[in-house]
Amino acid sequence: MRKRIRIELKPEEMPKQWYNVKADLPFKLDPPLDPETNEPISGEKLARIFPLGVLEQEVSTDRFISIPEEVLDEYVVFRPTPLIRATKLEEILETPAKIYYKYEGVSPTGSHKTNTALAQAYLNAREGVKTLVTETGAGQWGSALAYAASKFGMTVKAFMVRASYESKPMRKYMITLFGGDVVASPSEETASGRKFLQDNGNYSGSLGIAISEAIDRVLESNSTKYSLGSVLDHVLLHQTIIGLEIRKQLELADEKASIVIGCHGGGSNFGGTVLPFVVERLEEEKVRLIAAEPTACPTLTRGEYRYDSGDSAGFTPLLKMYTLGREFIPPSIHAGGLRYHGASPLVSRLLSEGIIEAQAFEQEEIMKAGRLFASVEGIIPAPESSHAIAATIREAEDARQKNTKETIVFTLSGHGLLDLAAYG
Ligand SMILES: *Cc1c(COP(=O)(O)O)cnc(C)c1O
Repeated sequence: MRKRIRIELKPEEMPKQWYNVKADLPFKLDPPLDPETNEPISGEKLARIFPLGVLEQEVSTDRFISIPEEVLDEYVVFRPTPLIRATKLEEILETPAKIYYKYEGVSPTGSHKTNTALAQAYLNAREGVKTLVTETGAGQWGSALAYAASKFGMTVKAFMVRASYESKPMRKYMITLFGGDVVASPSEETASGRKFLQDNGNYSGSLGIAISEAIDRVLESNSTKYSLGSVLDHVLLHQTIIGLEIRKQLELADEKASIVIGCHGGGSNFGGTVLPFVVERLEEEKVRLIAAEPTACPTLTRGEYRYDSGDSAGFTPLLKMYTLGREFIPPSIHAGGLRYHGASPLVSRLLSEGIIEAQAFEQEEIMKAGRLFASVEGIIPAPESSHAIAATIREAEDARQKNTKETIVFTLSGHGLLDLAAYG
């Protein structure tokens, strides 16, 4: 029998800085463009929707950015998160590979999203913002931001994709519990919401539509700012605490990762997990970095690499990214958090440069992987996270067939306790 291992860091061993991979990349990213002029977007325009503290981080090229004390103080509630060896999964797969998972489900709202929510809430509160407006798909981001905003004396207004608002009420209750206000999108509350309702008769909504409504609302008022839970560089920056902790934990266990895996929606947990491994990848070409996405929303594996809008109405800056087109409305799958037409520009560029890989998975395969993981390891994974598990199982089976000694690390981005209906 293999030994059960859990690698913990003490609160005082938590990283005190986020890692900015842009300082180490041998290329410069393509800038976001103004949708009205097709020229690089001006700082003044962005400052209408984001606070300066966030914008500074978005464009920074410093290698390390200090995590504010106030944010570290809130991270201590659930960080550092554990790195656990999935020995029971290894045994049942009869694989020679070692499998470790970084468990982000211990966060107060159940996923990695709290890492950036707390950072963004603090940066907004510092500049006097009272309400954060945002979109949320299945509600993971809305609940994380409502939680974080409440820590810094703010509230949240969340436009929630109607399909989830109606079918998954639990996170709606969580947003309200933390003092937030949540409305089904498309809504009657914004001009773009009313337009979508009229033009398309589309009542089920999408993330792209909800983003349009959130930005619409932010532009109406001065005491509100917009907050995005994924995709942008500063969000991935905040999530690097995941990969930085993994590196420390592997060192403690005297291990070296050969394959690092994360599920991919907009790219924040994947980016946060793998960006701290990119330098190693550039130098030795040994460690493989794999993004796992659904075949129902195959942005990285089937999308085009081009400039596209982040939302459906075309309000956001144009981002150079893999995209299925801003009008793409993915079928409703259990992994609601992976239903986004675009991808992080940073992850997109790494993919186009061959630095990372992407794989797509059918829902049947990921739910099977999630059930197996729950039954042998004991933690019920979110359907989103199960994409990373499915990718891990494929690599572990490959290692068995080729009899290679891999050390696989994946991020279990959230628990599935609010997704039990999907398991049903
Ligand atoms: C939102 C979410 C994701 C996908 O978002 P990314 O920005 O790609 O990380 C993955 N897993 C869970 C549990 C989520 O809540």
